[in-house]
Amino acid sequence: MLVVMKAQATPEQIQAVCDHIEQLGLRAHPLPGAQRTAIGITGNKGEVDRGNIEALSGVAEVIRVSKPYKLASRDVKEEDTVIRFPSTGIGPDATIGGRDLAVIAGPCSIESREQAFAIAENVAASGAQFFRGGAYKPRTSPYAFQGLGVEALRIMAEIRDRFGLRIVTEAIDNESLELVAEWADVVQIGARNMQNFSLLKRAGKLRKPVLLKRGLSATLDEFLMAAEYVMSEGNYEVILCERGVRTFADHTRNTLDLSIIPAVRRLSHLPILVDPSHGTGKRDSVLPMARAAIAAGADGILVEVHNHPEVALSDGQQSIYPDQFARMMDELAQIAPVVGRNLPRDIRVEAAK
Ligand code: PEP
Ligand code: MN
Repeated sequence: MLVVMKAQATPEQIQAVCDHIEQLGLRAHPLPGAQRTAIGITGNKGEVDRGNIEALSGVAEVIRVSKPYKLASRDVKEEDTVIRFPSTGIGPDATIGGRDLAVIAGPCSIESREQAFAIAENVAASGAQFFRGGAYKPRTSPYAFQGLGVEALRIMAEIRDRFGLRIVTEAIDNESLELVAEWADVVQIGARNMQNFSLLKRAGKLRKPVLLKRGLSATLDEFLMAAEYVMSEGNYEVILCERGVRTFADHTRNTLDLSIIPAVRRLSHLPILVDPSHGTGKRDSVLPMARAAIAAGADGILVEVHNHPEVALSDGQQSIYPDQFARMMDELAQIAPVVGRNLPRDIRVEAAK
């Protein structure tokens, strides 16, 4: 169910409707929009008596949402969700969603302070606003590098202070979720955990944006339902990320499904990023697919960059070199206006010195 408030409804009227919903033992999710506020109702087993709600002051109408995902649906919120990141003190504010494209760049794993700083300096100099780096790694083999854990989180916090880059890093379980939420600006939930419902619910209790990667074999509905899990707990700042799915094709590591971009944009107001690194697994494919992603309407790119990929502890074969990243930024800046977007390149050369 969805309560659509009148355009001129006051904050007090919105609060009164939320209180009424909560008194019925249900959950109210106020979602402010450009024109009006909508209040999603969850927790109902059957029909909610809409008459009483419709009679409250400031209410325009009460409508049924037929989709299985409600809070993630465009039916509930017409305009695109824009997630705002205030300035870190170095450089301007940043956003994910909306007209400006977001670029998240960095190594697959934080391997050392030197490695992380060298890459951060490079990506900052090319205009990235977000830095990624794995601290907790979900590896296929238990013998493979598992990440530096808290030490990596500390290194990334220093990178944030030094270069003004916002930090995006993955949580793989409840324990790492707490630590990541404490240190990072965006909490990543990886492809392998896309249907870890207890982890999603915990991420929903955070008041930090969550970057949710598409599962290796997830349908669009399953992907949006995973986002719904996070939102149902009150965290509405979810960023979707297409990172390729498993198919019979073996010329790439995964098959990057760019056709999900228009499908997501039609059904949901949430931002959608594309990860051409895990999506292809091949360095030479990263730039072409990044270009295609922006052309297809993605809200930005998440990309693995390494200064010495030949000795990287994870995903070296798909990590691009810093000079390729600089070229990618140049190319995306040119493609962006063709599709009505803008690539903010807030180059922190001074800060990087
Ligand atoms: C990653 O971003 O390093 C990662 C492990 O991604 P995914 O969950 O998409 O495999
Ligand atoms: Mn990786």
